[in-house]
Amino acid sequence: MGLKIWLNDRLVNERDAKISVFDHGLLYGDGVFEGIRVYNGKVFEGSAHLKRLYESAKVIMLDVPMDIDTLTDAMEQTVRANNVQDGYIRLIVTRGTGDLGLNPFICKHGATIIIASEIQLYPEELYEKGLRVVSVSSIRNHPLSCPPQVKSLNYLNNILAKIEAIQTGADEAIMYNHLGYVAEASGDNVFIVREGVICTPPVQAGSLDGITRNIVIELAKKENIQVEEKDLTRFDLYVADEMFLTGTAAEVIGVIDMDGRVIGDGVPGPVTKRLRQRFFDYARS
Ligand code: PMP
Repeated sequence: MGLKIWLNDRLVNERDAKISVFDHGLLYGDGVFEGIRVYNGKVFEGSAHLKRLYESAKVIMLDVPMDIDTLTDAMEQTVRANNVQDGYIRLIVTRGTGDLGLNPFICKHGATIIIASEIQLYPEELYEKGLRVVSVSSIRNHPLSCPPQVKSLNYLNNILAKIEAIQTGADEAIMYNHLGYVAEASGDNVFIVREGVICTPPVQAGSLDGITRNIVIELAKKENIQVEEKDLTRFDLYVADEMFLTGTAAEVIGVIDMDGRVIGDGVPGPVTKRLRQRFFDYARS
């Protein structure tokens, strides 16, 4: 029978969830999206995700066809229709149907798609052991290109980074910005711990303004751990006592090796484990 998918203004069967081959979301990656978790049947941090979606849309001059309340209701209906208790929502707004030219303004109606389904986390073993990451040569978008804070449907830059990581046998890529400072991983934000202080690059360094990132910063402050947002170099990461990544799908996951340098003791560190547990509890409470 398949899933029930939200398409524009209603739920349809998966096999009927179709959009035009002339949709600029497909032709050009022109559109925006969000990945959102469902814990205990409830949409997690829905308003933060929708705020980011509308801001991304504003920057690319895309009119989201629904207001926030209607979109929130559509997400909740999709979660219920698919009986999702612990899962993942993919919310997509495309530019809509146009012609073969780039001009977005001839696309009259963006398509709204909501998929609520299971989630593929990293295997449990990787949370225990920690990830291996590598520096990659594909840099994060220059701030004068499509800004890295825009969560657009065009993820090729990050996909190129992921390919580089996979080809070297690593789990994740660390991406730098055009100045050579650390930006983020291909689909997660990056943190280090050094002498008891948590550091993460500022959003201006070219990272997505991660919702998990912001919650983890707040949780760390509640634990009386000092948090600094500052530019980090490859050196800072190599000599860190601990490193971890944050993201909607991954939550909080330790890193134990970067470019062949063992990070800290080569196992997820105590601050990483504590924040992972705090985030786990917070998300499910
Ligand atoms: N950076 C990138 C490039 C991402 O795509 C994501 C989301 N998968 C993140 C960071 C993490 O953001 P969030 O915590 O909001 O999922």
